[in-house]
Amino acid sequence: PPPAPEPSAKPGLMGRMFGTAQPPVARRALDDAMLEELEDLLIQADMGVETAARVTANMAEGRLGRRLSVPEIKALLSAEVARIMEPVARPMPLYPRRPQVVLVVGVNGSGKTTTIGKLASQFRAAGKSVVIAAGDTFRAAAVEQLQIWGDRAGVPVMTAPQGSDPASLAFDAMTRAEAEGADLLLIDTAGRLQNRTDLMEELAKIVRVIRKKDATAPHNTILVLDATTGQNALSQVETFQKLADVTGLVMTKLDGTARGGVLVALADRFGLPIHAIGVGEQIDDLAPFDPQDFATALVG
Ligand code: GDP
Repeated sequence: PPPAPEPSAKPGLMGRMFGTAQPPVARRALDDAMLEELEDLLIQADMGVETAARVTANMAEGRLGRRLSVPEIKALLSAEVARIMEPVARPMPLYPRRPQVVLVVGVNGSGKTTTIGKLASQFRAAGKSVVIAAGDTFRAAAVEQLQIWGDRAGVPVMTAPQGSDPASLAFDAMTRAEAEGADLLLIDTAGRLQNRTDLMEELAKIVRVIRKKDATAPHNTILVLDATTGQNALSQVETFQKLADVTGLVMTKLDGTARGGVLVALADRFGLPIHAIGVGEQIDDLAPFDPQDFATALVG
């Protein structure tokens, strides 16, 4: 028989509050002291002050003074988290448009290249034809990585000489995707935030150029965020919303120790759809975002 699954190595919030050996019969009053303790835990878990306060307030509503067991507290808390996450748990929408143009943005190291490879593989498996454009023309390593991912996914990767104009590559990729009748064009972009003005101009130019071919493009602008950067994700969303019209998020590296509590703050503040989560470095390690699973794992 297969070995029993390892218990999760990362303790959830409740594990930290009550310890994992807490007898399930122990009860505590849902009072101000407990709410404060919970709120602190939520803040430590990157949920942000406002969201943490909202979650605990909702949880307490009509229940103050009640004596609750640990499993009851967990269930209430994860239900509140799931309630915030349910509206944003939406896979990337597919349109009849050909090619559907997907711009992928995010800071370097967030997992853009990997996520593009995983997405390409998933779309291929779903019978879609895909073209990738290696739009971060300044980073030779990013282009090489993308080619490796393209090979793995069985998807052509369009590249341009190092340092050449990403917008003209995007234009050529549009031409090819149109000529081939490709369903999807996934465009990687640069993620060097050191010079925002440059990056903004670069992204704007890519958008301008692909709109010459299709005035409705890009159809999706996906921001890739790294779960291990915690609260940083909030400022990254703010920044990239100024640089591009972000339509959805992918959060990577949720297979590590990070539980992605910041996603709750993101959902609460921005309401952007979460299309998928990265759960490893392999091609199949991209999972749909499940609000209930996420809430249960977070609360733990
Ligand atoms: P980019 O600079 O944004 O294109 O980032 P990359 O795609 O090159 O990813 C940066 C690093 O993060 C690489 O070592 C990837 O293998 C790793 N990575 C990406 N996504 C995940 C994920 O979901 N889980 C884990 N554990 N590692 C990931």
